[in-house]
Amino acid sequence: MNIEQFRARLQIEQRETVEAIEQAQQSAAPVELDQSSVGRVSRIDALQQQALALGLLERLTVRKRKVEAALARLDAGTYGMCCACQGDVEPERLNADPAVVFCQECKKNR
Ligand SMILES: [Zn+2]
Repeated sequence: MNIEQFRARLQIEQRETVEAIEQAQQSAAPVELDQSSVGRVSRIDALQQQALALGLLERLTVRKRKVEAALARLDAGTYGMCCACQGDVEPERLNADPAVVFCQECKKNR
């Protein structure tokens, strides 16, 4: 298993997630209630956009935490170890998602 390859993938994803979070934070900023230039329909539109951005922000934040936890496991030397049974996580599962936490069996039992 090429650990450094996973580290590189995780570091790229961490950077991309941080950027995406910054963008989502801008879109999720509170909608001005008294913008005279904006009609009712566009305000509803803006509120919907904001709600979408908030949902995205939440997903991105969870993902960022997962990626950072995987990087911490790399530093600790426990990367690729299942967090439940301490067995090896299948390489194909790590390939599909380098931030994966559980082996196939433990994932199934959750
Ligand atoms: Zn396991």
